[in-house]
Formats: sequence, C-alpha cells, structure tokens
Amino acid sequence: MDKQGFTTGIVHGDRNPGAEHGGVRQPIHTSVQYGFERVEDLIGVFQGTKKGGFNYARQGTLTTAALERKITSLEQGAGSICFGTGMAAISAVFLTLLRAGDHLVSSRYVFGNTNSLFGTLRTLGIEVTMVDSTSVENVANAIRPNTRMAFVETIANPGTQIPDLKGIGELCRERGLAYVVDNTITSPALFVPKAVGASLVVNSLTKTIAGHGAALGGAVTDTGLFDWSAYPNIADEYRRSAPKEQGLLQIRKKGLRDMGAALSSEQAHSIAMGAETLALRVAKCSENALALARYLEKHEAIGRVFYPGLESQLQYEIARALFKGASWLLSFELRNADRMIEVVNALKLLVKATGLGDTRTLIIPVAPTIFYEAGPEVRKSMGISDGMLRLSAGIEDTDDLIADFEQALKLAA
Ligand SMILES: *Cc1c(COP(=O)(O)O)cnc(C)c1O
Repeated sequence: MDKQGFTTGIVHGDRNPGAEHGGVRQPIHTSVQYGFERVEDLIGVFQGTKKGGFNYARQGTLTTAALERKITSLEQGAGSICFGTGMAAISAVFLTLLRAGDHLVSSRYVFGNTNSLFGTLRTLGIEVTMVDSTSVENVANAIRPNTRMAFVETIANPGTQIPDLKGIGELCRERGLAYVVDNTITSPALFVPKAVGASLVVNSLTKTIAGHGAALGGAVTDTGLFDWSAYPNIADEYRRSAPKEQGLLQIRKKGLRDMGAALSSEQAHSIAMGAETLALRVAKCSENALALARYLEKHEAIGRVFYPGLESQLQYEIARALFKGASWLLSFELRNADRMIEVVNALKLLVKATGLGDTRTLIIPVAPTIFYEAGPEVRKSMGISDGMLRLSAGIEDTDDLIADFEQALKLAA
C-alpha cells in the first residue's frame, strides 16, 4: 500500500478493508444508530475497548470513517477526523486543545474566518499573537511560557505568502509546541506538512480535495509526530490511551461529539469521489494559474502579481523546494483600482464568486468582500490593496481563460 503512487492509493484504497460485495468504493451508510447482538459490544464501543465500532453517527459512520482513512493516507498521518466544514475542523482544534490563560502564536497571513475566530478565542481568555511567519525569528520572539501552539497556512490567501514552514517546525519541536498547519491551499497533492514536522494538519475538504464545489467538509489529521503525553491540556479520561492517540481522541470527543459539527455520510461520499481526481486536477489548475500569472505579469493594466510559481517572486525558491507545484491560488492588482467593477463584470467565462479549488475558475475582488469585515488595518498588515483580485484557477482550457482576460482588460485603462 505504502509503495503505491498517490492517485493509485486514492482510487483503490476503499477496497482494502473489504467493501461489501466487492464494491470498488465505499457505500453511503446513513444509519444514525448502530445496534449490537451483544450488549457487551455496545459497552465496548462506548468505552473504546472495541476498536473501529460505531454507536451514533455524530461521532462518525462507516462512510465518514472511509474518508478519514483516505485523508490519513494522503497526509501520511496516524489518524484523521472529518467535520462538517473546514472551519469546524479548525475551531475544534483550538477549542479542545487550548484553555483560558494559554497562548497561541499564529501567522498573520490566515484565512479571514480563521482571523475572525481568533477574536472569539480572545473573548474566552486565550491569547493570540499574530506574526509575520515568513521569518521564524518572529515566531520565536512571540513565544511565552504559556505558549502551547503555533498555527500557519501553507500558502496564504490572498497574498500567497509562504511561512518558514521548516524553520517553524524545528522551533516547535525544540520548544515542545504543537504545530498546526492548514494545508488547504496546497493540499496533500502538492505538500505533506508532516515533512516539516507538523503535529496536526487541517484541510478544508470543500476546496480542492472535493474539487466540485458541491460539498462542505473539513478534516484534522494527526501526523503521529507529537507526544501528547507531555501536552498539559489533555483531560484525565483520555490519558488512559496511548500517548500518540490522546490528542486526536480529545478532538473527536470534545470537538466532534460535544460540539457536533459532524460530516454527513452523503457529503463524505461526494468528497471521496471528488478526491479520486485530486492530483490530476491540481496539476491542470496549477498549469492554468502559472499561465495566467505569466500573462498578467506582462499586461500593462496589471500592477503586482502574487503567485509563488513565478521566478520573479520572493517565495519562488521556497515554493519550489517545498511544494510539487505552486497551486491554483493567484492574486493580482489592477493598476487602476477605479476600473475594478467594469473589468470584473466584463469577464464572461470566469465565475464571479468566492470559494477556492473548484474545477471552474473563480474570481473575487478581495477588499470589499472576503476581507471587508477585517477592516483597513488588517488588510494593510496582510498586504491587501483596494485593487486586489483573487483568482482560483480551474481546469478549463488555458487559451479560453487568457482570451477572457484579453477582452476584459481592454476596459482597464
Ligand atoms: C476555505 C478555507 C477554510 C475553511 O473551510 P470551509 O470548508 O469553507 O469551512 C480554512 N482554511 C483555508 C485556508 C481555507 O481556504
């Protein structure tokens, strides 16, 4: 199994635990309750002594468990938990592993809703310091005696900043901090955060893992690298498990069971089907993003272009060293921000929509939408200007995308 290639593993993985009647993919199990012949088995599932059993669908079903195995395999991890959305996965990590009086160091370049969630954490007495994570020194300088965790995203949306992923991993290992990496923009097709020492990996399955924009989902993967026996916030009832399992066990019980943001079997199945073509789609999306970045970089109506696959970018070498491709996320600035509405409206093929990692190319002006609530100060600190547009490259034929820009940018002067 381990020796198989990435896509082979995804498309053949479901058969390994023996799907019924030789089915090549896991069926959709919709049962909420699970009945047992012997009550001892029901008790065993509750007490965790009967491994792999189910009692109530809020904590997982056979179908969500199959998706969890798939994500674990893609991330080369020890185990995963699926949630109803990416944000549910992220909030479960923070709310179950941090307590009042704890301190979290986060990259300043994070997803807008994650940024907003930090506001909620602060009202609960959890301190959050946001730093420019492109330099590990900034993370090191922010560490305090009560720091428990560091959080980064692999490629930031929309500015495409890349943290010093490896340096922060080494720092966290030295200082005994949990290292949480949001891998949504790269996905395991381009990058496996375990390689830089991540303790936990978060993925929004809604984006490129599903790829079709027809299902919401999120996942947390434990890479198996972190020693939870030394982590202070594990509840006594979970200390009885093996040290490596304690973190994920607490997230499943406190984060999924108690907070309840469960993924349905139908959505899990839809995500698993999308995931089969993950590597193929990511390759084509990255090819389109690079072609568009090269085209836009040369266009007179365009100011700065942000794409780590361009040789001209500060982050080019680090992206090349760490990732198998520079992803589908691309941002750029219109020189004349006053023409933004006309130019975007003139695009016929691109979809004017939020969302990322779809098979269709999506475009959105950043300041008045996804970073509107963040306010001008946060936007400035993240390098978001009024004329910035974010694009999520799809799998369309490259020439069609360039032709659409060619006609729309005539209105940009
Ligand atoms: C979209 C996104 C999320 C949230 O995922 P949802 O499934 O929409 O809740 C988290 N992190 C990043 C980097 C994202 O792009």
